[in-house]
Amino acid sequence: MFSRRHQKALAKFALTAFFIMATASLWALSISNRYRSPRNPERQVRKSTTLIILHTTEAPAKSSLNKVSSRGECHYVVTEEGNVYAIVDRDKEAFHAGRSMWHGKEDVDKYSVGIECVGYHNKPMGIVQLRAIKDLISSLKSMYRLNDNSVICHSHVAYGAPNKWYKKKHRGRKRCAMLFATPSVRRELGLYSRPKSDIDVRAGRLIVADKYLNTVLYGSIDPMSRHYPQKTVKKAAPKVTAKVPVKPAVKPVQKVVPKLVPNVSAVATPKKVSKVVPKILSKASRIPTSEKDLKEGGWTKVGVVKKGGTIISLAGSKWNKSDTYYTIGKKVISGDKVNPAKIQVGTSVWLKK
Ligand SMILES: [Zn+2]
Repeated sequence: MFSRRHQKALAKFALTAFFIMATASLWALSISNRYRSPRNPERQVRKSTTLIILHTTEAPAKSSLNKVSSRGECHYVVTEEGNVYAIVDRDKEAFHAGRSMWHGKEDVDKYSVGIECVGYHNKPMGIVQLRAIKDLISSLKSMYRLNDNSVICHSHVAYGAPNKWYKKKHRGRKRCAMLFATPSVRRELGLYSRPKSDIDVRAGRLIVADKYLNTVLYGSIDPMSRHYPQKTVKKAAPKVTAKVPVKPAVKPVQKVVPKLVPNVSAVATPKKVSKVVPKILSKASRIPTSEKDLKEGGWTKVGVVKKGGTIISLAGSKWNKSDTYYTIGKKVISGDKVNPAKIQVGTSVWLKK
């Protein structure tokens, strides 16, 4: 059908179109150059790119941006508000992974892109930030033709030199970005698989020094699942609760109110039950069920979530405490029940002063 020359031209066209699309989607992210690293000119161009390494800054945005910029320690920073900053040129080496190994290859900096996400390795991140990380990953994946298993965490690749506690080289030097290995967070990032085992441990190059980390990276523990519940499970929930007769469950409980509290927390948040129960609870243990209750109970409205904002930026470290409350419409949610990924614009944040 096509001559060889035509085939070549066609392939070239397809490749060019692909790169234009990949680059365009990265531009669509609106990446800021405000914190471009002064180290940029002296950095070498990488020979290959086979991994995207995610990090957590374990510190607030401003200080993290200043630090990674002055030292040239990553390619991108993504803030809680979903702002993306370019630090070191995408194709150059950034010093982000330190002592590291993956599938027997040392010095991961030489073949990876490093993304610093403002936040902590064991705390959930807001949906706005996760969406920005997802978009950035998706662009880089298509640009470098990488699959989901190539998007991993610093804690996957970091390893420690022998020391007085571990006689051998060992995995578990860091828990950096651990949350991004969990299936629930990966789902939010559009990643549907992850490495199944630590090849370097299996090959005997390293030993496991942090058993908990190892279980989070490869085992069945998902410490983030309660913050990012699976959507299919949520859809099924109302059907199950509909079968439960609500009235009989409530009536006997009214007589013995104190016993209700542990019972309620044991219920896996079915919507229909929670509508009935708070009314009883509000009398017994004064759990606020309206903005009026909150005002009278001594809570102060500290702000309203705006477009691109997060509850963490308004409530700070108290965001997930049981006496922090969020209201939208007539809904009142306590901090220990809130899913930051599901917060809507217009949600009010209430703190007890
Ligand atoms: Zn790191």
